[in-house]
Amino acid sequence: MDSRRSQVRWVLAGLAAAIMLLLASCSAPPPARKASPPSAPAVQEPDRGEPDRGELARHATKPEHKLKAAVTTKEVTPAAPSAVPLHHRKRMAGYPGEITHASSPTKIALTFDAGASPAPTPSILKTLKSAGLQVTFFLTGKWCEQNPDLVKEIVADGHEIGNHSYSHQDFRKLSDDAIAEQLRQTEDIVMRLTGRTTKPLFRPPYGGRDKRVLSVAGQEGYTSVYWSLDSLDAFKKGITSQEIENRILDRIQGGDIVLMHCGSAPTADALADMISKLQKRGYQIVKVSELTSGG
Ligand SMILES: [Zn+2]
Repeated sequence: MDSRRSQVRWVLAGLAAAIMLLLASCSAPPPARKASPPSAPAVQEPDRGEPDRGELARHATKPEHKLKAAVTTKEVTPAAPSAVPLHHRKRMAGYPGEITHASSPTKIALTFDAGASPAPTPSILKTLKSAGLQVTFFLTGKWCEQNPDLVKEIVADGHEIGNHSYSHQDFRKLSDDAIAEQLRQTEDIVMRLTGRTTKPLFRPPYGGRDKRVLSVAGQEGYTSVYWSLDSLDAFKKGITSQEIENRILDRIQGGDIVLMHCGSAPTADALADMISKLQKRGYQIVKVSELTSGG
């Protein structure tokens, strides 16, 4: 009986080893990430340089805040923490119904917020055009009023436009009516200029939002589009184009929504080289709507 029991034990041990091997092979990183050196240091920052860090830190701890796009698309989950590739950055989930990233292995969205200087925008548009890319712009109504030709060019080049409020105020400090008014004003201006709606894409000014803001935006037909990787081109004073490029290339992973700004000269300078390096690594740069459609 004893020898029979030990035989059973050996068979079980063999089975367990086979399962471990199988799990290890399943958790291999997707092809797009092969370019990242396996010895790359783990990313230190839990969030991606979000301007509203305190608020984000609070929400990052709430596991119930799951992103729809991330939930509905499949991604290989590593079997054990030790199997997580070092470049597999933790991304915050955001509020319920909010979009912060998707789980595509190769698609990423570059997003450009406009509210400040339009000066670097023609260069950004030129670079995107020569790369044959269509991306997502979040425009304030005021910026549109001041730069009607750029707004028309953005649409003519095939980019999509989201609503970034009328006058770039923190929506958490506005009444429900004022929030709705900000969104409607911008929608009307963009519609008048381009014949296009900004719905359903909305990016809260300063990233400032809460459940009430998102609920009012939702009633107006908008979904908040946050980001999973901040270029810091507006947040960090004096940032150089090289720093922006390194920051993004060091951290990017499939499904990311990257925050950049139309008013950043360093971003405009970094863009062409950054795009070509991202593409060489196998990333496909798409609009937010395409990233989240799961296709
Ligand atoms: Zn902004």
